Amino acid sequence: MKLYVVMPCYNEEAVLPETSKRMKKKMHKLIEEGKISSKSRVLFIDDGSKDKTWHLIETLHQEDCIFSGVKLSRNRGHQNALLAGLTVASEYADAVISMDADLQDDINAMDKMIDKYKSGCDIVYGVRSKRDTDTFFKRFTAEGFYKLLEKLGGEIVYNHADYRLMSNRALKSLLEYKEVNLFLRGIVPMVGFQSDIVEYERSERYAGESKYPLKKMLSFAFEGITSLSIKPIRMIFNLGIFIGIIGVVGLIYSLIQYISGSTVSGWTSTIMSIWLLGGLQLIAIGVIGEYIGKVYLETKERPRFIIETTLID
Ligand code: UDP
Ligand code: MG
Repeated sequence: MKLYVVMPCYNEEAVLPETSKRMKKKMHKLIEEGKISSKSRVLFIDDGSKDKTWHLIETLHQEDCIFSGVKLSRNRGHQNALLAGLTVASEYADAVISMDADLQDDINAMDKMIDKYKSGCDIVYGVRSKRDTDTFFKRFTAEGFYKLLEKLGGEIVYNHADYRLMSNRALKSLLEYKEVNLFLRGIVPMVGFQSDIVEYERSERYAGESKYPLKKMLSFAFEGITSLSIKPIRMIFNLGIFIGIIGVVGLIYSLIQYISGSTVSGWTSTIMSIWLLGGLQLIAIGVIGEYIGKVYLETKERPRFIIETTLID
């Protein structure tokens, strides 16, 4: 079984030496045990890093052909980088495991994933057994997000990020989904096939900083729910909320005026409806706008990533 492990890397010079060391050991062990073929590879995707990441990948590739690399023409974000890696790997591998480069995903969970693949699973999801390495805030927001997504009808594996194994046919089916607004963990369950989960403990980032600050995280969550991003329209939506709040304040004000008896009859209800309805309408336009924005981006069918260099042998 030819396995490719796909790792997107953005400015990961701080962790790559350790990641590659551990992965090399792990891959050679799996090869020795006869679990995977000697043609298996670790495929690093350099997502337009500004540091020495690509240089490190090139050196690793020269030293040991188990390491291969793909360099994107610019930074496209984690999801697109991952998709680029999966696309390339789908041409070579029988199965692909996607994993973060920062060693947060426990590489020893790979064994169980491979076992499940061998017993007939096409997709094996890595699921976090607990979240105690997260801050309270991250845990609270992440869990809230999964629940919200579920309520909104998104089929998603609870506490699963992008650590998963996919067979070649599952991968090929995934690549049939041509959407530009990528939220892979939402699309993978749609593919179907026999699937299972493997639990693992997610540790802290080995070194370097998270490439997902709060702002990016929130916008990723937003993307997941609506799968879009058109800023001006979102601003209308925010304006709607703002006006809605003013509406509530206006409502209280006009009620006070009404109680104190200094109004003509009909004024209170007129004022209230103008502000509240105005705010609500803007919110509604904003939501519709979000979906139009999504259609707009999809119709352009822009490439989701552009590969500059590929190092595989
Ligand atoms: N990443 C990427 N492109 C980006 C941001 C992140 O390829 O624009 C990669 C990053 O190198 C890492 C993975 O995506 O391998 C997850 O990012 P990170 O660990 O920073 O996110 P967190 O675990 O903090 O959510
Ligand atoms: Mg991380």
